[in-house]
Amino acid sequence: MSLFSRFLDGWRKYRKPGYYEKFDYHWTMTVDLDKCTGCEACMMACQAENNIPVVGEDEVARGRELQWIRVERYWEGEYPNARLRFMPMMCQHCDAAPCETVCPVSATYHNQDGLNTQIYNRCIGTRSCAVYCPYEVRYFNYYDHGWDSPLEQQLNPDVTVRGKGVMEKCTFCIQRIRQAKDLAKDDDRRRVQDGEMQPACVQTCPTKALVFGDRNDPESQVSLSMDDPRSYRVLDELNTDSSVFYLKKVDA
Ligand code: SF4
Repeated sequence: MSLFSRFLDGWRKYRKPGYYEKFDYHWTMTVDLDKCTGCEACMMACQAENNIPVVGEDEVARGRELQWIRVERYWEGEYPNARLRFMPMMCQHCDAAPCETVCPVSATYHNQDGLNTQIYNRCIGTRSCAVYCPYEVRYFNYYDHGWDSPLEQQLNPDVTVRGKGVMEKCTFCIQRIRQAKDLAKDDDRRRVQDGEMQPACVQTCPTKALVFGDRNDPESQVSLSMDDPRSYRVLDELNTDSSVFYLKKVDA
């Protein structure tokens, strides 16, 4: 079987309805745009948790920013009646992810928890995944970014420090998921309880605009949030089957 057929087979398998119900978890996030104030605390929390370097103004001007979550701003109307809207945007962990089918070395693939994962030491830096991602949430390391002493002491030991030539993106803080699963196992529990772990952005958001949990649990906060009539997915018409749901802002 050719490499391409293997990718296609995997992609079809994940797309079958109910595929993830066989497994314990299907991690999902909801973002309530009515609660988001655009404070960007989620961005800072993500940066600190995941050892993301500050690349500097010049690199940002060249389109080489490194931020696993960004807060997009949209202006509506004209001054003085212009209205500002915010939309936090991170990897959507699509169940039919276009990035996965184009990676020539399977550095990005889907795991059984419904996460779109990235294997850093397999990535060869072709950046084809970033080209195919319609949400533009994959970021490339153009340099080995360093931390001036003593800033290296703030690095999170649970997260790899990525090097030059590697693609990276939001993992839903997989190190925290892993730790919560290990704790559940140590306590002889079959499952991680709802709310037991949260990614750094969810934990930090002061307005509780972000909700994270397991969609396979119909009673979880995220399942209830997903069922909100305001719920929608960004670029849903592309059939990426993403795992991030947005709740529409309510206009007065
Ligand atoms: S921390 Fe919460 S309120 Fe602030 S920008 Fe992020 S999602 Fe919005």
